[in-house]
Amino acid sequence: MIYFVTGGSRGIGAAIVLGAVREGHDVAFTYRGAADKAQAVIEQAATIDGARKVRAYALDVKDSAQVERVVDQVLEDFETVQVVVNNAGISRDNLVASMSDEEWNEVLATNLSGAFYVCRQFLPTLISNRFGRIINIASVAAGGMSGMANYAASKAGLIALTKSLAKEYGRRGITANVVVPGFFETDMTQERMTERTREFWQQFAPVPNGRKGNLDELAHAVTFLASEKAAYINGEELHITGGLDWGP
Ligand code: NDP
Repeated sequence: MIYFVTGGSRGIGAAIVLGAVREGHDVAFTYRGAADKAQAVIEQAATIDGARKVRAYALDVKDSAQVERVVDQVLEDFETVQVVVNNAGISRDNLVASMSDEEWNEVLATNLSGAFYVCRQFLPTLISNRFGRIINIASVAAGGMSGMANYAASKAGLIALTKSLAKEYGRRGITANVVVPGFFETDMTQERMTERTREFWQQFAPVPNGRKGNLDELAHAVTFLASEKAAYINGEELHITGGLDWGP
């Protein structure tokens, strides 16, 4: 199959790109600014399976005109796409009383509007193929998280967007599902997760040693939802959290 993954240059997105390549798929992925990291992912993919086509595209998902251009380019380069993974995401934490317009808008525009633009742009292709898999990466924060109202609202919105897509396009052979990651060590969590949240996870995650998730475990969930075998799973949330679905 042919995958399109946003934010594939680092962290969870890079693991999804490499997981798809490992299972024999071609991948178009995007990055916002980290061209060197995107190139490193392409090189890593080539060591896994040199026969796979893997290309990176610069894209700021906040900009619907850029999304339009990049999706057109991907469809020209790859001819079609079957799997769309909206992974690109950011956090800008603050308490609501102190949160700026910019902190609120930037997070909503990236995590929610960006995913909407990407889905909208690919839908005509998925509809004409009568096959598609949309997989959106949300967060346990969607249930509400102190200091992360912007991020929580964006992820709750992303879940609602996904469930609506499942209802609008399920009859056309397109499934839309959400993957909810727990705690995975990436630039986002290293740079922005508070010590308090780390300790919370360590103490309460009902897995041996309160461990963090392994990026491969998340990538497997995505390739499973993207597979033909997952055809009857639509509008679901798959939690890859070790059982801890709640944050402070
Ligand atoms: P990282 O910060 O490590 O990577 C973010 C990725 O998104 C990068 O590839 C970055 O590109 C890209 N990106 C950021 N902003 C934009 C933008 N405006 N347009 C296009 N691409 C953009 O994050 P993670 O890997 O940790 O997170 C990936 C997803 O998983 C996010 O949606 C996050 O909310 C979610 N998540 C992560 C958890 C975790 O434990 N890590 C837990 C729950 C959810 P570039 O490299 O060029 O900057």
